Amino acid sequence: MSEEKLSFQAEVSKLLEIVVHSLYSNKEIFLRELISNASDACDRLRYAALTQSDLLDGDGLFRITVTPDKEARTITVSDNGIGMNRDDLVENLGTIARSGTADFVSRLTGDAKKDVSLIGQFGVGFYSAFMVADHVEVATRKAGEAVGWRWVSDGKGEFVVSEDAEAPRGARITLRLRDGEDEFLEPERLRKIVKTYSDHIAIPVMLGDETLNAASALWTRSKSEITPEQYKEFYHHVAHAFDDPWMTLHYKAEGAIEYTGLLFVPGQKPFDIFNPDRKQHVKLYVKRVFITDDCSELLPPWLRFLRGVVDSADLPLNISREMLQHNPLLAKIRTGLVKRVLSELKRKAEDAPEDYQTFWKTFGDVFKEGLYEDFERRADILELCRFRTTVSDQPVSLAEIVGRMKEGQEGLPTITGDDAEALRKSPQLEGYLARGIEVLLLTDPIDEFWVRAVGDYQGKPFRNVAEGSADLEKVAVQPKEGEEKPEAAPADEIANLVAALKIALGDEVKDVRASVRLTESPVCLVAEEGDMSIHLERLMRQHRQGASGLKPRRILEINPHHALIRGMAARAGEDGAADLLADSAHLLLDQARIVEGEPPADPAAFARRLASVMRKGLPA
Ligand code: ADP
Ligand code: MG
Repeated sequence: MSEEKLSFQAEVSKLLEIVVHSLYSNKEIFLRELISNASDACDRLRYAALTQSDLLDGDGLFRITVTPDKEARTITVSDNGIGMNRDDLVENLGTIARSGTADFVSRLTGDAKKDVSLIGQFGVGFYSAFMVADHVEVATRKAGEAVGWRWVSDGKGEFVVSEDAEAPRGARITLRLRDGEDEFLEPERLRKIVKTYSDHIAIPVMLGDETLNAASALWTRSKSEITPEQYKEFYHHVAHAFDDPWMTLHYKAEGAIEYTGLLFVPGQKPFDIFNPDRKQHVKLYVKRVFITDDCSELLPPWLRFLRGVVDSADLPLNISREMLQHNPLLAKIRTGLVKRVLSELKRKAEDAPEDYQTFWKTFGDVFKEGLYEDFERRADILELCRFRTTVSDQPVSLAEIVGRMKEGQEGLPTITGDDAEALRKSPQLEGYLARGIEVLLLTDPIDEFWVRAVGDYQGKPFRNVAEGSADLEKVAVQPKEGEEKPEAAPADEIANLVAALKIALGDEVKDVRASVRLTESPVCLVAEEGDMSIHLERLMRQHRQGASGLKPRRILEINPHHALIRGMAARAGEDGAADLLADSAHLLLDQARIVEGEPPADPAAFARRLASVMRKGLPA
């Protein structure tokens, strides 16, 4: 019979290398992985058979069987699920099909310790068999197909696929154990492993005649009968995840529509959360039958970090995935789920604010997408958001920030950028800091978008401090002890300087004006109200969107109290002032750009002007 020898995808080889050599601390989880896959395979066949009952071939009693063979030193895990054909085998057991793989593998360092912890988050699924086995054989036949297949590998770069006339429907996975792994041949050990990791599996896991697990869907059991460990193991299975859930929410909705939800908020950020598909990941069941893990109607994208299952008896069993679109019952379930998740998060935020910070740091940036996508829930979402500010390093709520607003303060000032520490030093903040006004430091790319969409919080408008006018006049400056604020240049001199700078800079700026927001720095750039912020412009450039067209000109603000500006203002009334001040004007503008993290407009001219000004400053 013809055999095909194929190579593992490079990423798989790398993964296998680590799996085998890094001495994973709990190798026993290989069994959990194989049982988890077998259970998924049974779920998938059960669903397919709803519309195509002949796929079952008279065998609809799903089961998973674990068989140790002491003589041959093998352990076999078999199921009568959906099975795989040749192409499935090559695709599923030769590559890592999941999105984001390249990125993940690129983070593997070659340092065994670090890699193991990374893989711990990622999971190696089927490939974990090679932790205990030096030879793995899969005999499988796909439901509805006549020909069976065999996949064989020693986990070293290659695998062999061939036809297998004997293979029954489903999959039979046989591991030849490595030396020293004989413990996995002991029924007592196997019993314990299954009980620990796979008790929640809804399909019977058999050892001979004995059923090792409870074999009922976990979410149908009552909460009081489920231990935290069982919830955790179920989470591992349903989410294909390997961390501890941060929050577990298990409830039964009764009333207009009935369903059970068992939802988890992961403890760690899934590596593919920013995949462009923005898919949600909660699985839909109808009367305990798995329907789909790809139902975009079930939850909005901004809750895509949730994992778990929703099971409803009200949806028809023979529902096709197409019928799920625009289904009014499903829309009701979705509304119910969103409401429930938000109220649970709210409870956490109130009862365990420190713990809530963990959630916020992990998923806040995803969650905030709801602010512009879910108009109806906006107010609830906003209450749950947390922000770093000039006053607080720990993210705080808007309610707290509002509670500290200063006398005369009307809006909630924000500043956007890449890095909170850099933002703290922004010249645009100076006037706010001098008045003790708290400014929100917004550093997630998403922040550029929701702030505009949302507009205000409880009637207090968000205001970007680097945009428009500063509205600071009504708030008193808090005098710093022992520090005199230097005099401002006289208004007429400032007017002369503004005029001279405008002539010198021409089209390079939109406007020049005296600043109220500066107290220390001589100059800064601001965007005109309604224009794209400087940070957003940079973000768009990084993503190569609308490269050249988007270059709004900026307003240059000057600080009338600054010694340099006062000096320049004093001479701005002289004849030919614009020429005299031309180099300084450009240097001021470039300086303002540099503080924004932007390069000077013309680096060569910048260097020439700087050299010239420095030379003039030298004692003769
Ligand atoms: P995951 O379960 O996270 O998808 P695995 O590495 O555990 O990743 O499995 C890879 C794929 O191989 C599965 O998604 C499935 O398509 C296929 N597979 C594994 N075991 C079986 C099985 N017993 N029956 C059918 N397909 C299987
Ligand atoms: Mg798996």
